[in-house]
Amino acid sequence: MRDAIYAECRPRIAALRRPPGLAVVLVGHNPASEIYVSNKVKASAELGIYSETLTPPESVTTGELLAVVAELNSRPEIDGILVQMPLPPQVDSKRILLAVSPDKDVDGFHPCNVGNLVTGRPGPRPCTPAGIIRLLRHYEIPMAGRHAVVVGRSDIVGKPAAMLLLHENATVTICHSKTRDLAEVCRQGDILVAAVGRPAALTGDFISPGAAVIDVGVNRITDRAELARIFRGLKEKLAAFDRKGSLLVGDLDPVDVAEKAAAYSPVPGGVGVLTIAMLMMNTVDCAERRLC
Ligand code: NAP
Repeated sequence: MRDAIYAECRPRIAALRRPPGLAVVLVGHNPASEIYVSNKVKASAELGIYSETLTPPESVTTGELLAVVAELNSRPEIDGILVQMPLPPQVDSKRILLAVSPDKDVDGFHPCNVGNLVTGRPGPRPCTPAGIIRLLRHYEIPMAGRHAVVVGRSDIVGKPAAMLLLHENATVTICHSKTRDLAEVCRQGDILVAAVGRPAALTGDFISPGAAVIDVGVNRITDRAELARIFRGLKEKLAAFDRKGSLLVGDLDPVDVAEKAAAYSPVPGGVGVLTIAMLMMNTVDCAERRLC
């Protein structure tokens, strides 16, 4: 699917009078953020998108970061600006996201673009939720009239995923940490989207047999006993853990979901890959809007 998205992007990039430009702002040295950004830079290079990474120090202030964003807003060769989250606690993240010009907002987090999403107007859509919809469409999983249960209500995943599913005419339930009888609500889902950030938290009890399950969670396991419990002692997983010292798991119990779901997205190699592909697509969209 990633390759299909890239194949769609290539001729569109070739048709532009200059390569699309993506600026990534990476503050400090958060190891997970560094990996995400390096994957985004690699994907840009693969597609011939010009990319630039700005690396303000961990001690950056809100004012200094606003100045970085303002400069990127004013540069004509930059079509997309991505400020990698999370930002250090002294920085007012909401002010930073608000400062990104809505027409360069490749993450789709600016309130203008949130409004565009809610009202079904064109504009960049948040990459992870957009990838989820691509995935469901690609595998011809019907959404119209189906019950989609989204666990998680963050601004970057849960809420926009629910809104996009609603636009696909699904009947949508959004769950969160205060939801009562979570397993029972989840079992009502023909489509279950888990964006919780808790390793293997949703077990077989949460999955309706035959459901399509999208696992957004990315959780790094560093404790061997926890990994052995999650994978029921599966030798290949333990061997991989022993080689690497840690492994990623999603929010779904990987053994239960494989048994119960009709279709599910793996972690790693599922939604995360598509998130980057959709970022490339958003960058091309923004460049086209600005250049054509
Ligand atoms: P987040 O902002 O921490 O939100 C987590 C959501 O889960 C919150 O709405 C929270 O409810 C809910 N929640 C937490 N514990 C719960 C529980 N026991 N029962 C029910 N709901 C619970 O996280 P996020 O940014 O949306 O990310 C979620 C996961 O997706 C993380 O693992 C993150 O790393 C991953 N992620 C992956 C990608 C990708 O490209 N693959 C992209 C983004 C995020 P409250 O609102 O009530 O606190």
